[in-house]
Amino acid sequence: MSIKQLIKKESARQKKVINLIPSENYVSKDILAALGSPLTNKYAEGKSHQRYYFGNKIVDEIEDEVKKLALKIFKLSDKKWGVNVQPYSGSIANLAAYLGSVGPNAKILAMSLEHGGHLTHGHKVSWTGKLFKFEHYGVGKDGWLDYDEIEKITQKFKPTLVICGATAYPRKLDFKKFRKIADSVVHPEQGRRTLLLADISHIAGLVAGGAHPSPFPYADIVTSTTQKTLRGPRGAFIIARKELSDNIDKAVFPGLQGGPHLHTIAGMGVAFEEALRPGFKNYARQVVKNAKALASELKKLGFQIITDGTDNHLLLADVTPFGLTGKQAGELLEKNNIIVNKNMIPNDPRKPWDPSGIRLGTPAVTTQGMREKDMARIAKQILKILNFKF
Ligand SMILES: *Cc1c(COP(=O)(O)O)cnc(C)c1O
Repeated sequence: MSIKQLIKKESARQKKVINLIPSENYVSKDILAALGSPLTNKYAEGKSHQRYYFGNKIVDEIEDEVKKLALKIFKLSDKKWGVNVQPYSGSIANLAAYLGSVGPNAKILAMSLEHGGHLTHGHKVSWTGKLFKFEHYGVGKDGWLDYDEIEKITQKFKPTLVICGATAYPRKLDFKKFRKIADSVVHPEQGRRTLLLADISHIAGLVAGGAHPSPFPYADIVTSTTQKTLRGPRGAFIIARKELSDNIDKAVFPGLQGGPHLHTIAGMGVAFEEALRPGFKNYARQVVKNAKALASELKKLGFQIITDGTDNHLLLADVTPFGLTGKQAGELLEKNNIIVNKNMIPNDPRKPWDPSGIRLGTPAVTTQGMREKDMARIAKQILKILNFKF
């Protein structure tokens, strides 16, 4: 089959399924148009107005505007914050942020992958885990972050960078508490306080839409992808305090990357424009309402929901009471056109490849216009599918 035919097939699959993967979404036609635009033909190594190639007048204008929009969606001033919209993905954005702020071999504290953090938060199989000295915190037995415990670990480990942000944590992050924790360790030899990085890849759309507290009053650096709740293309940005942003820019280019993907950057700009429309606030609010509804409906049907609910766009369910592993549950659901991902639950006795839980999220179905009543229907369907195996 040709690639073109396969793309058609995948488009049809995307329309057919109920997509509950919390890191996925459906972009608008305008974003697809930007991604498929002739901007993909242009090379523009360097920052805008300081390029190594010529013919960049228009793409400079585009990149400048996208940077402005990135600050605007989070209500930030360019006097205080620098933006980089060139990272190819969230993974590279994180690596660049660490290299450009604290540098190789620095001590960094982050949430462990097993408890909901990200691979690029220093997991041992990720190069981030090899290039820096990472220590990790997790969640307590109840599935919630225990800020007193994180503070204890911080004071003992004395990191120069603390990371907050997760891929599988269903509750609000208390950025103010993380700031306080970072501030409890000082590094007089480096002449500065412990830096705080918030990786808001998952929740960026909720933050922009006012459905989750903003990290900006407290964090020194914020990294994010744009394809998740922000409903943009697969891309990423780094927003950092002005005094840090020059070094971080250098870590992105020429440190790690070559020419920026201008079609993606333009797509990000369109996503930011969309996030500034009044409707986006309703979208973000509805994503959370739907996740809460899905959690409470599943709970009513006997599912064990980690932390007993959610504050954001995702939830974790332990499926072992059904006599299933996360992998088996995910496969059964896929056969019935409901797409989820398998996920570790806190203190999971099982392994990541076949863990005890599944992770469900509502950004994609909310984009399709689904509401609380649809969540009740989906919950019942999930129960029926998982019970059917007996
Ligand atoms: C998704 C995600 C990333 C990585 O993004 P990619 O675009 O897949 O490289 C980084 N950090 C967190 C917290 C994420 O959820």
